[in-house]
Amino acid sequence: MALIVQKFGGTSVGTVERIEQVAEKVKKFREGGDDIVVVVSAMSGETNRLIDLAKQISDTPVPRELDVMVSTGEQVTIALLAMALIKRGVPAVSYTGNQVRILTDSSHNKARILQIDDQKIRTDLKAGRVVVVAGFQGVDEHGNITTLGRGGSDTTGVALAAALKADECQIYTDVDGVYTTDPRVVPQAQRLDKITFEEMLEMASLGSKVLQIRSVEFAGKYNVPLRVLHSFQEGPGTLITLDEEESMEQPIISGIAFNRDEAKLTIRGVPDIPGVAFKILGPISAANIEVDMIVQNVAHDNTTDFTFTVHRNDYQAAQRVLEQTASELGAREVIGDTKIAKVSIVGVGMRSHAGVASRMFEALAKETINIQMISTSEIKVSVVIEEKYLELAVRALHTAFELDAPNHQGE
Ligand code: ASP
Ligand code: MG
Repeated sequence: MALIVQKFGGTSVGTVERIEQVAEKVKKFREGGDDIVVVVSAMSGETNRLIDLAKQISDTPVPRELDVMVSTGEQVTIALLAMALIKRGVPAVSYTGNQVRILTDSSHNKARILQIDDQKIRTDLKAGRVVVVAGFQGVDEHGNITTLGRGGSDTTGVALAAALKADECQIYTDVDGVYTTDPRVVPQAQRLDKITFEEMLEMASLGSKVLQIRSVEFAGKYNVPLRVLHSFQEGPGTLITLDEEESMEQPIISGIAFNRDEAKLTIRGVPDIPGVAFKILGPISAANIEVDMIVQNVAHDNTTDFTFTVHRNDYQAAQRVLEQTASELGAREVIGDTKIAKVSIVGVGMRSHAGVASRMFEALAKETINIQMISTSEIKVSVVIEEKYLELAVRALHTAFELDAPNHQGE
Protein backbone atom coordinates (compact mmCIF):
# COMPACT_ATOMS: atom_id res chain seq x y z
CA MET A 1 0.00 0.00 0.00
CA ALA A 2 1.35 3.35 -1.00
CA LEU A 3 1.11 6.80 0.52
CA ILE A 4 0.33 9.41 -2.10
CA VAL A 5 0.10 13.18 -1.77
CA GLN A 6 -2.18 14.67 -4.42
CA LYS A 7 -2.24 18.40 -5.07
CA PHE A 8 -5.08 20.01 -7.03
CA GLY A 9 -4.60 23.52 -8.38
CA GLY A 10 -7.04 26.40 -8.57
CA THR A 11 -8.70 25.50 -11.88
CA SER A 12 -9.21 21.92 -10.68
CA VAL A 13 -11.23 23.20 -7.71
CA GLY A 14 -12.58 26.28 -9.49
CA THR A 15 -16.28 25.38 -9.12
CA VAL A 16 -18.39 23.17 -6.88
CA GLU A 17 -18.85 20.76 -9.80
CA ARG A 18 -15.12 20.44 -10.20
CA ILE A 19 -14.67 19.86 -6.49
CA GLU A 20 -17.21 17.03 -6.75
CA GLN A 21 -15.20 15.63 -9.66
CA VAL A 22 -12.00 15.79 -7.63
CA ALA A 23 -13.82 13.99 -4.80
CA GLU A 24 -14.83 11.22 -7.23
CA LYS A 25 -11.25 10.88 -8.33
CA VAL A 26 -9.88 10.74 -4.80
CA LYS A 27 -12.54 8.21 -3.88
CA LYS A 28 -11.42 5.89 -6.70
CA PHE A 29 -7.80 6.12 -5.57
CA ARG A 30 -8.83 5.43 -2.01
CA GLU A 31 -10.68 2.31 -3.15
CA GLY A 32 -7.41 1.11 -4.68
CA GLY A 33 -6.12 0.90 -1.12
CA ASP A 34 -3.63 3.77 -1.04
CA ASP A 35 -3.37 6.29 1.76
CA ILE A 36 -4.18 9.72 0.38
CA VAL A 37 -3.32 13.21 1.54
CA VAL A 38 -4.85 15.91 -0.65
CA VAL A 39 -3.53 19.47 -0.87
CA VAL A 40 -5.70 22.07 -2.56
CA SER A 41 -5.31 25.62 -3.82
CA ALA A 42 -7.96 28.29 -3.59
CA MET A 43 -10.66 28.35 -6.29
CA SER A 44 -9.15 29.87 -9.41
CA GLY A 45 -9.21 33.66 -9.32
CA GLU A 46 -9.93 33.75 -5.59
CA THR A 47 -6.44 34.71 -4.42
CA ASN A 48 -6.39 37.54 -6.98
CA ARG A 49 -9.83 38.66 -5.86
CA LEU A 50 -8.68 38.83 -2.25
CA ILE A 51 -5.51 40.72 -3.11
CA ASP A 52 -7.60 43.21 -5.12
CA LEU A 53 -9.79 43.79 -2.09
CA ALA A 54 -6.75 44.57 0.03
CA LYS A 55 -5.44 46.95 -2.62
CA GLN A 56 -8.66 48.92 -2.38
CA ILE A 57 -7.64 49.73 1.18
CA SER A 58 -3.96 50.31 0.51
CA ASP A 59 -1.49 49.98 -2.37
CA THR A 60 0.87 48.30 0.02
CA PRO A 61 -1.23 46.16 2.35
CA VAL A 62 0.37 45.21 5.66
CA PRO A 63 1.96 41.81 4.87
CA ARG A 64 0.73 40.12 8.06
CA GLU A 65 -2.88 41.12 7.45
CA LEU A 66 -2.67 40.19 3.79
CA ASP A 67 -1.73 36.67 4.88
CA VAL A 68 -4.64 36.50 7.30
CA MET A 69 -6.88 37.29 4.36
CA VAL A 70 -5.46 35.38 1.39
CA SER A 71 -5.15 32.21 3.44
CA THR A 72 -8.96 32.06 3.54
CA GLY A 73 -9.12 31.01 -0.11
CA GLU A 74 -7.65 27.61 0.67
CA GLN A 75 -9.69 27.27 3.86
CA VAL A 76 -12.85 27.29 1.74
CA THR A 77 -11.69 24.62 -0.71
CA ILE A 78 -10.41 22.17 1.93
CA ALA A 79 -13.78 22.23 3.68
CA LEU A 80 -15.75 21.82 0.45
CA LEU A 81 -13.61 18.91 -0.68
CA ALA A 82 -13.86 17.20 2.70
CA MET A 83 -17.66 17.60 2.59
CA ALA A 84 -17.79 16.19 -0.94
CA LEU A 85 -15.75 13.16 0.16
CA ILE A 86 -17.83 12.53 3.26
CA LYS A 87 -20.99 12.77 1.16
CA ARG A 88 -19.57 9.93 -0.92
CA GLY A 89 -18.97 7.79 2.14
CA VAL A 90 -15.22 8.48 2.21
CA PRO A 91 -14.09 9.43 5.71
CA ALA A 92 -12.19 12.70 5.40
CA VAL A 93 -10.97 15.59 7.51
CA SER A 94 -9.64 19.01 6.53
CA TYR A 95 -6.86 21.00 8.16
CA THR A 96 -5.50 24.50 7.72
CA GLY A 97 -1.73 24.95 7.77
CA ASN A 98 -1.95 26.05 11.36
CA GLN A 99 -3.96 22.98 12.38
CA VAL A 100 -1.45 20.55 10.86
CA ARG A 101 1.23 22.77 12.10
CA ILE A 102 3.16 23.61 9.06
CA LEU A 103 5.73 25.75 10.79
CA THR A 104 7.31 28.51 8.69
CA ASP A 105 9.59 31.46 9.24
CA SER A 106 7.96 34.87 9.70
CA SER A 107 8.51 36.35 6.24
CA HIS A 108 4.90 37.12 5.42
CA ASN A 109 3.79 36.60 1.80
CA LYS A 110 6.91 34.57 1.01
CA ALA A 111 7.46 32.36 4.04
CA ARG A 112 9.61 29.25 4.01
CA ILE A 113 8.57 25.98 5.57
CA LEU A 114 10.77 25.01 8.52
CA GLN A 115 9.05 21.95 9.87
CA ILE A 116 5.90 19.89 9.50
CA ASP A 117 4.26 18.01 12.35
CA ASP A 118 3.07 14.73 10.84
CA GLN A 119 1.41 13.36 14.00
CA LYS A 120 -2.17 14.32 13.29
CA ILE A 121 -2.05 13.30 9.65
CA ARG A 122 -0.57 9.90 10.48
CA THR A 123 -3.23 9.24 13.09
CA ASP A 124 -5.98 10.12 10.60
CA LEU A 125 -4.49 7.97 7.86
CA LYS A 126 -4.27 5.06 10.27
CA ALA A 127 -7.95 5.55 11.08
CA GLY A 128 -8.72 5.30 7.36
CA ARG A 129 -9.38 8.98 6.69
CA VAL A 130 -8.38 11.00 3.67
CA VAL A 131 -6.61 14.11 4.94
CA VAL A 132 -7.25 17.37 3.08
CA VAL A 133 -4.69 20.09 3.75
CA ALA A 134 -4.78 23.76 2.76
CA GLY A 135 -1.96 24.64 0.39
CA PHE A 136 0.00 27.87 0.37
CA GLN A 137 -0.18 28.55 4.12
CA GLY A 138 1.56 27.92 7.39
CA VAL A 139 2.07 29.46 10.78
CA ASP A 140 5.13 31.04 12.36
CA GLU A 141 6.45 30.31 15.85
CA HIS A 142 4.32 33.13 17.28
CA GLY A 143 1.11 31.78 15.81
CA ASN A 144 0.86 34.28 12.94
CA ILE A 145 -0.63 32.97 9.71
CA THR A 146 1.89 33.02 6.86
CA THR A 147 1.71 32.27 3.13
CA LEU A 148 4.36 30.81 0.86
CA GLY A 149 4.22 33.04 -2.22
CA ARG A 150 2.08 32.74 -5.35
CA GLY A 151 1.76 29.18 -6.56
CA GLY A 152 2.86 28.02 -3.10
CA SER A 153 0.43 25.11 -2.88
CA ASP A 154 2.84 23.09 -5.01
CA THR A 155 5.44 23.59 -2.32
CA THR A 156 2.99 22.55 0.40
CA GLY A 157 2.32 19.34 -1.52
CA VAL A 158 5.98 18.51 -1.94
CA ALA A 159 6.87 19.46 1.64
CA LEU A 160 4.11 17.22 2.99
CA ALA A 161 5.24 14.38 0.74
CA ALA A 162 8.78 14.81 2.05
CA ALA A 163 7.68 14.96 5.69
CA LEU A 164 5.46 11.87 5.30
CA LYS A 165 8.02 10.06 3.13
CA ALA A 166 5.26 9.60 0.57
CA ASP A 167 5.79 7.32 -2.39
CA GLU A 168 4.84 10.05 -4.85
CA CYS A 169 3.63 13.61 -4.95
CA GLN A 170 1.12 14.05 -7.75
CA ILE A 171 0.46 17.56 -8.99
CA TYR A 172 -2.90 17.69 -10.80
CA THR A 173 -3.32 20.65 -13.08
CA ASP A 174 -4.83 21.82 -16.37
CA VAL A 175 -2.08 20.37 -18.57
CA ASP A 176 -1.34 16.67 -18.98
CA GLY A 177 2.37 16.91 -18.27
CA VAL A 178 5.60 18.72 -18.99
CA TYR A 179 6.24 19.33 -22.67
CA THR A 180 9.39 19.57 -24.76
CA THR A 181 8.40 23.19 -25.26
CA ASP A 182 5.28 25.37 -25.16
CA PRO A 183 2.75 23.64 -27.49
CA ARG A 184 1.24 27.04 -28.30
CA VAL A 185 4.48 27.92 -30.04
CA VAL A 186 5.35 24.48 -31.40
CA PRO A 187 2.28 22.32 -32.10
CA GLN A 188 4.62 19.34 -32.56
CA ALA A 189 5.76 19.59 -28.94
CA GLN A 190 5.56 16.29 -27.06
CA ARG A 191 4.75 15.34 -23.52
CA LEU A 192 7.80 14.02 -21.69
CA ASP A 193 7.41 10.74 -19.82
CA LYS A 194 10.27 11.66 -17.53
CA ILE A 195 12.48 14.59 -16.73
CA THR A 196 15.09 15.08 -14.01
CA PHE A 197 14.76 17.60 -11.17
CA GLU A 198 17.71 19.52 -12.59
CA GLU A 199 16.16 19.78 -16.02
CA MET A 200 12.78 20.73 -14.61
CA LEU A 201 14.41 23.43 -12.52
CA GLU A 202 16.07 24.88 -15.59
CA MET A 203 12.84 24.66 -17.59
CA ALA A 204 10.90 26.33 -14.77
CA SER A 205 13.39 29.10 -14.16
CA LEU A 206 13.58 29.74 -17.89
CA GLY A 207 9.89 30.39 -18.16
CA SER A 208 8.05 27.07 -18.36
CA LYS A 209 5.38 27.68 -15.72
CA VAL A 210 4.00 24.26 -14.86
CA LEU A 211 5.31 24.15 -11.29
CA GLN A 212 6.41 26.67 -8.71
CA ILE A 213 10.22 26.67 -8.84
CA ARG A 214 10.57 26.28 -5.10
CA SER A 215 8.54 23.10 -5.13
CA VAL A 216 10.94 21.56 -7.65
CA GLU A 217 13.95 22.61 -5.57
CA PHE A 218 12.31 21.09 -2.53
CA ALA A 219 11.47 17.86 -4.33
CA GLY A 220 15.04 17.57 -5.61
CA LYS A 221 16.54 18.22 -2.21
CA TYR A 222 14.42 15.57 -0.49
CA ASN A 223 14.21 13.28 -3.50
CA VAL A 224 10.40 13.28 -3.63
CA PRO A 225 9.20 11.74 -6.91
CA LEU A 226 6.90 14.33 -8.47
CA ARG A 227 4.35 13.66 -11.16
CA VAL A 228 2.50 16.30 -13.16
CA LEU A 229 -0.91 15.09 -14.39
CA HIS A 230 -4.12 16.42 -15.89
CA SER A 231 -6.89 16.68 -13.30
CA PHE A 232 -9.67 15.37 -15.48
CA GLN A 233 -8.00 13.41 -18.29
CA GLU A 234 -6.50 9.96 -17.97
CA GLY A 235 -2.81 9.61 -18.71
CA PRO A 236 0.59 8.93 -17.16
CA GLY A 237 1.65 12.59 -16.97
CA THR A 238 5.32 13.45 -16.53
CA LEU A 239 7.46 11.99 -13.77
CA ILE A 240 10.17 14.24 -12.34
CA THR A 241 12.90 12.26 -10.60
CA LEU A 242 16.57 11.93 -9.81
CA ASP A 243 17.09 9.13 -12.33
CA GLU A 244 19.26 9.77 -15.28
CA GLU A 245 18.72 6.63 -17.24
CA GLU A 246 21.68 5.69 -19.35
CA SER A 247 19.61 4.52 -22.26
CA MET A 248 20.63 4.67 -25.89
CA GLU A 249 17.41 6.41 -26.70
CA GLN A 250 18.02 9.21 -24.22
CA PRO A 251 17.69 12.40 -26.20
CA ILE A 252 20.47 14.95 -25.97
CA ILE A 253 17.96 17.68 -25.33
CA SER A 254 14.86 17.25 -23.18
CA GLY A 255 13.29 20.60 -23.78
CA ILE A 256 13.48 24.11 -25.10
CA ALA A 257 12.61 26.96 -22.78
CA PHE A 258 12.29 30.63 -23.61
CA ASN A 259 11.28 33.93 -22.18
CA ARG A 260 10.72 37.52 -23.14
CA ASP A 261 11.30 38.84 -19.63
CA GLU A 262 14.78 40.18 -20.08
CA ALA A 263 16.40 43.35 -21.36
CA LYS A 264 19.98 44.02 -22.36
CA LEU A 265 22.28 46.85 -21.31
CA THR A 266 25.73 47.67 -22.69
CA ILE A 267 28.26 50.09 -21.34
CA ARG A 268 30.74 50.94 -24.08
CA GLY A 269 34.33 52.05 -23.89
CA VAL A 270 35.15 51.27 -20.28
CA PRO A 271 38.83 51.03 -19.27
CA ASP A 272 40.08 47.44 -19.40
CA ILE A 273 41.60 47.33 -15.94
CA PRO A 274 41.08 45.14 -12.85
CA GLY A 275 38.01 45.99 -10.83
CA VAL A 276 35.89 47.39 -13.63
CA ALA A 277 33.36 44.54 -13.71
CA PHE A 278 32.88 45.06 -10.00
CA LYS A 279 32.50 48.82 -10.45
CA ILE A 280 29.79 48.20 -13.04
CA LEU A 281 27.84 45.41 -11.36
CA GLY A 282 28.37 46.44 -7.73
CA PRO A 283 25.93 49.38 -7.90
CA ILE A 284 23.49 47.24 -9.89
CA SER A 285 23.34 44.60 -7.19
CA ALA A 286 23.27 47.31 -4.51
CA ALA A 287 20.10 48.53 -6.22
CA ASN A 288 18.69 45.02 -5.75
CA ILE A 289 18.65 44.29 -9.46
CA GLU A 290 19.42 40.77 -10.51
CA VAL A 291 21.71 40.16 -13.43
CA ASP A 292 21.38 37.10 -15.63
CA MET A 293 23.82 36.86 -18.55
CA ILE A 294 27.09 38.77 -18.65
CA VAL A 295 29.48 39.27 -21.56
CA GLN A 296 32.69 41.28 -21.65
CA ASN A 297 34.35 41.85 -24.99
CA VAL A 298 38.03 41.62 -25.88
CA ALA A 299 39.75 44.93 -25.27
CA HIS A 300 40.54 47.40 -28.04
CA ASP A 301 42.88 50.33 -27.28
CA ASN A 302 42.66 49.39 -23.59
CA THR A 303 38.92 49.87 -23.51
CA THR A 304 36.17 47.30 -23.72
CA ASP A 305 32.39 46.84 -23.90
CA PHE A 306 30.47 45.18 -21.13
CA THR A 307 26.96 43.77 -21.66
CA PHE A 308 24.50 42.15 -19.29
CA THR A 309 20.82 41.30 -19.06
CA VAL A 310 18.30 42.13 -16.33
CA HIS A 311 14.59 41.52 -15.89
CA ARG A 312 12.59 43.86 -18.11
CA ASN A 313 10.88 45.37 -15.07
CA ASP A 314 14.29 46.45 -13.79
CA TYR A 315 15.47 47.87 -17.10
CA GLN A 316 14.90 51.55 -16.39
CA ALA A 317 16.32 51.39 -12.90
CA ALA A 318 19.38 49.54 -14.20
CA GLN A 319 19.83 52.10 -16.96
CA ARG A 320 19.86 54.97 -14.45
CA VAL A 321 22.44 53.21 -12.29
CA LEU A 322 24.57 52.44 -15.32
CA GLU A 323 24.50 56.03 -16.63
CA GLN A 324 25.88 57.13 -13.30
CA THR A 325 28.64 54.50 -13.42
CA ALA A 326 29.44 55.44 -17.01
CA SER A 327 30.13 59.03 -16.11
CA GLU A 328 32.28 57.98 -13.15
CA LEU A 329 34.33 55.60 -15.30
CA GLY A 330 34.52 57.94 -18.26
CA ALA A 331 32.85 55.35 -20.47
CA ARG A 332 31.79 56.22 -24.02
CA GLU A 333 28.06 55.45 -23.79
CA VAL A 334 25.29 53.28 -22.41
CA ILE A 335 22.98 51.53 -24.84
CA GLY A 336 20.10 49.21 -24.18
CA ASP A 337 17.60 46.94 -25.85
CA THR A 338 14.34 45.60 -24.45
CA LYS A 339 13.31 43.75 -27.60
CA ILE A 340 15.28 40.63 -26.90
CA ALA A 341 14.36 37.08 -26.01
CA LYS A 342 16.26 34.24 -24.44
CA VAL A 343 16.05 30.73 -25.82
CA SER A 344 17.60 27.79 -24.01
CA ILE A 345 18.08 24.15 -24.79
CA VAL A 346 18.07 21.97 -21.70
CA GLY A 347 19.10 18.37 -21.20
CA VAL A 348 21.20 16.21 -18.90
CA GLY A 349 22.12 14.27 -22.03
CA MET A 350 24.32 17.11 -23.28
CA ARG A 351 26.97 16.49 -20.61
CA SER A 352 28.39 13.64 -22.56
CA HIS A 353 27.87 15.12 -25.99
CA ALA A 354 30.26 17.57 -27.54
CA GLY A 355 28.89 19.72 -30.32
CA VAL A 356 25.44 20.39 -28.87
CA ALA A 357 26.06 24.12 -28.91
CA SER A 358 27.32 24.06 -32.46
CA ARG A 359 24.26 22.13 -33.57
CA MET A 360 22.17 24.83 -31.94
CA PHE A 361 24.09 27.63 -33.64
CA GLU A 362 23.86 25.87 -36.98
CA ALA A 363 20.08 25.62 -36.72
CA LEU A 364 19.84 29.32 -35.89
CA ALA A 365 22.25 30.25 -38.69
CA LYS A 366 20.10 28.38 -41.19
CA GLU A 367 17.24 30.70 -40.28
CA THR A 368 19.65 33.68 -40.39
CA ILE A 369 18.92 34.48 -36.77
CA ASN A 370 21.69 36.52 -35.20
CA ILE A 371 22.93 35.44 -31.78
CA GLN A 372 23.64 38.38 -29.50
CA MET A 373 24.79 36.62 -26.35
CA ILE A 374 25.56 33.06 -25.31
CA SER A 375 25.83 31.34 -21.97
CA THR A 376 26.27 27.71 -21.08
CA SER A 377 26.04 25.45 -18.08
CA GLU A 378 26.40 21.71 -17.65
CA ILE A 379 22.89 20.99 -18.83
CA LYS A 380 21.91 24.14 -20.73
CA VAL A 381 22.89 26.42 -23.58
CA SER A 382 21.15 29.80 -23.73
CA VAL A 383 21.22 32.46 -26.42
CA VAL A 384 19.83 35.96 -26.59
CA ILE A 385 18.26 36.88 -29.92
CA GLU A 386 16.02 39.57 -31.33
CA GLU A 387 12.53 39.11 -29.89
CA LYS A 388 10.77 38.95 -33.24
CA TYR A 389 12.63 35.74 -34.11
CA LEU A 390 11.67 33.92 -30.93
CA GLU A 391 8.99 31.62 -32.36
CA LEU A 392 11.05 30.86 -35.43
CA ALA A 393 14.08 30.00 -33.31
CA VAL A 394 12.15 27.71 -30.97
CA ARG A 395 10.57 25.85 -33.89
CA ALA A 396 13.87 25.47 -35.71
CA LEU A 397 15.59 24.12 -32.59
CA HIS A 398 12.72 21.78 -31.81
CA THR A 399 13.15 20.22 -35.24
CA ALA A 400 16.95 20.28 -35.21
CA PHE A 401 17.07 18.33 -31.97
CA GLU A 402 14.49 15.83 -33.21
CA LEU A 403 11.88 16.67 -30.64
CA ASP A 404 8.95 16.99 -33.05
CA ALA A 405 6.15 14.47 -32.52
CA PRO A 406 6.40 11.78 -35.23
CA ASN A 407 2.89 12.24 -36.63
CA HIS A 408 3.62 15.90 -37.22
CA GLN A 409 6.99 15.56 -38.87
CA GLY A 410 7.51 16.88 -42.39
CA GLU A 411 4.66 19.36 -41.81
N1 ASP B 1 -3.83 30.24 -4.16
C1 ASP B 1 -2.45 30.58 -4.20
C2 ASP B 1 -2.13 31.37 -5.46
O1 ASP B 1 -2.96 31.62 -6.27
C3 ASP B 1 -1.55 29.41 -4.08
C4 ASP B 1 -1.65 28.40 -5.20
O2 ASP B 1 -2.61 28.38 -5.95
O3 ASP B 1 -0.73 27.59 -5.33
O4 ASP B 1 -0.99 31.73 -5.64
MG1 MG C 1 -1.25 27.25 -8.77
